[in-house]
Amino acid sequence: MSQHIAVIGAGLAGLVCASRLSEAGFQVHVFDKSRGVSGRLSTRRGEGWQADHGAQYFTASDPAFVQQVQCWEQAGVVQVWQPELHVAGSTSRGSGAADVVRYVGAPSMTAPARALAAGLDVQLQATVQSVQRDQAGWRIQVAEEAARAACDRLFDAVVLAVPSPQAVPLLQACAPDLAAQALQAIMSPCWSAIARFDTPCDPGFDAAFVNEGALRWVARDSAKPGRPATETWVLHASPAWSEQHLEDAPEQVAEQLVQAFVALGGGEPCSVVAHRWRYAQAAVPLGVSFLHDAGLRLGVCGDWLANGTVEGAWTSGAALAAHLVQETGAPVQDANEG
Ligand SMILES: Cc1cc2nc3c(=O)[nH]c(=O)nc-3n(C[C@H](O)[C@H](O)[C@H](O)COP(=O)(O)OP(=O)(O)OC[C@H]3O[C@@H](n4cnc5c(N)ncnc54)[C@H](O)[C@@H]3O)c2cc1C
Repeated sequence: MSQHIAVIGAGLAGLVCASRLSEAGFQVHVFDKSRGVSGRLSTRRGEGWQADHGAQYFTASDPAFVQQVQCWEQAGVVQVWQPELHVAGSTSRGSGAADVVRYVGAPSMTAPARALAAGLDVQLQATVQSVQRDQAGWRIQVAEEAARAACDRLFDAVVLAVPSPQAVPLLQACAPDLAAQALQAIMSPCWSAIARFDTPCDPGFDAAFVNEGALRWVARDSAKPGRPATETWVLHASPAWSEQHLEDAPEQVAEQLVQAFVALGGGEPCSVVAHRWRYAQAAVPLGVSFLHDAGLRLGVCGDWLANGTVEGAWTSGAALAAHLVQETGAPVQDANEG
């Protein structure tokens, strides 16, 4: 009988872990609190426009991830993006950036994650509030009543694939040692604004690393492959500015980021909307691939363990899955049959 594994978090780390475990013969059940999969590889949509307001692009250096990206390219869910790049302010960050091969999801940043999720059992709008283990196995509690049936069973093992500040409260009761390790990772916030224009806005570049003032990065989202033509820019505030303005009203934030964009040579948009990522990127990752307590059968993966990038999230999830498969061998026992 198959073993049942609950994977909490349907970002890239959770999904690659889930799909590898599923391929190895485990019964995998994925839970995510959001309305869609993909986590911080995120796209916002409106009438005739869309914009990636989370991760902007990704790079690939790990051979296994390079191979995954090639598969995604062949499947048409990833394309190379070659923006006209600019570096504003000091050249300490972003100089030499033109040599890098940048990939984006196509037609949106969520496409690779959606490809991984196809065929998996994913329960959306399921906010996991607690994970508890007794001798029979793991029990999971979710906030939403509509999702309760999906976790009304025992699980043999649990994988947590959520940002560290969201992992800590789940780990504290069942695995205080892992919680203490997760507390060591530091995640920084990011205010992100999507600005739309009636007419073309041309500051002379498609994207810029900004090393002064409020901004850290700006990009013409509509110049990415496969996007609608409506002129749309994404503006990201620096971690320090985002921290300083964390509790500001989104309208105020949007106005200030637009002003900074205008100072860079951009224009005044016809509409702008701001989104706060409270846990955007791992400023201080743990520097390990994953965490795993073999006695508890509890694993933890995500970008904040590895190196705070899309590639890091994928390699962390894949490494944890390989470890679980190797350690467990052929799936043998079902906790509900126990
Ligand atoms: C603004 C911004 C810009 C970025 N730019 C880049 C970039 O250019 N290049 C790059 O490589 N990386 C970038 N990143 C980082 C990149 O997005 C992440 O490294 C990667 O997407 C993390 O994947 P993950 O699976 O580890 O976590 P996530 O994508 O965060 O997935 C975690 C999932 O867990 C879910 N979840 C959380 N708590 C619970 C709970 N209690 N119950 C159920 N579900 C839960 C969430 O809804 C989410 O879907 C950026 C991130 C942001 C926010």
